[in-house]
Amino acid sequence: MENKCIVEVHPLTNDPTAAWKVISKQQKLLKLNVKMPTKPVEPDKVRFVCMSDTHSLIRNITYGIPDGDVFIHAGDFTKCGQKDEVTQFNDWLGTLPHKHKIAIAGNHELSFDKKFQQAFKCTTSRRGRRESPTEIDEVQNYGNSKDDIIEAVNTDSIGNYLTNCTYLEDCGIELYGIKLYGSPWQPEFGNWAFNLKRGEECLSKWNNIPNDTEILITHTPPLGHGDLVCSGIRAGCVELLNTVQQRVQPKYHIFGHIHEGYGVTSDGKIIFVNASTCDINYIPNNLPIVFDVPLKKGY
Ligand code: 5GP
Ligand code: MN
Ligand code: MN
Ligand code: MN
Repeated sequence: MENKCIVEVHPLTNDPTAAWKVISKQQKLLKLNVKMPTKPVEPDKVRFVCMSDTHSLIRNITYGIPDGDVFIHAGDFTKCGQKDEVTQFNDWLGTLPHKHKIAIAGNHELSFDKKFQQAFKCTTSRRGRRESPTEIDEVQNYGNSKDDIIEAVNTDSIGNYLTNCTYLEDCGIELYGIKLYGSPWQPEFGNWAFNLKRGEECLSKWNNIPNDTEILITHTPPLGHGDLVCSGIRAGCVELLNTVQQRVQPKYHIFGHIHEGYGVTSDGKIIFVNASTCDINYIPNNLPIVFDVPLKKGY
């Protein structure tokens, strides 16, 4: 059995900006270029095409999506997880040429988080049912109307509408012998879906990521990579960085969520991909991030 370290909660977990000041002293931070592929994938490689945070704005995208073997969406594919939004996303996935398509949820996919649904469900204002506005008002609306939020929260079995991809929620899939794992959770912000307290709560989810994961997909960035918010503070998860660097050590870590953190970085070992398609103004300006991974023997 592999004996890898147990990750502990960092003393500065609740102040990621301060945590990064300490942690960054002991590590490299390389910025890599984002470039669209100019040639088809070589026969001995697998091509991954990553997007995130499309927020139901796919129709505003002005570029073509590059072809590849595996398409990955790292969450926030809707504005609030309404059924029509999910169906529209699913229809679009159906038009993509990729052989395999993977999606995870983000904080905007309200209908995918059952605990969140339970918390707000009986408060619906839809025909004949009682409304409890104060509870829905606890949720920062991010420009969605209250009715949209209520409708999203009241949509059951939403996963059934995602027929054109494999939806990963704290689970993995193996493609071409490569182990992928996906998880939607993020440090709490705005009281939306898949919010968890920094520290122990987040770490308990990251502890489910298998050691042998090679491509990790989360909605939140880890601390220090693609997590710098416009205001100058860091919003990434300290325990996710420590899990990824100290225990899991995947080849790639793909995420989104902090739109302004779009781009590719590395610590010299792991490649970190913030694939946010939308920029800070929710305009889907950023290109997909594409990388090729060598095929293993026998594939
Ligand atoms: P979204 O609402 O799509 O999840 O995130 C949109 C934007 O909200 C991000 O680009 C970022 O500016 C801000 N944001 C999201 N999560 C956090 C957070 O945990 N802390 C801070 N300071 N900003 C956040
Ligand atoms: Mn987003
Ligand atoms: Mn590993
Ligand atoms: Mn998000």
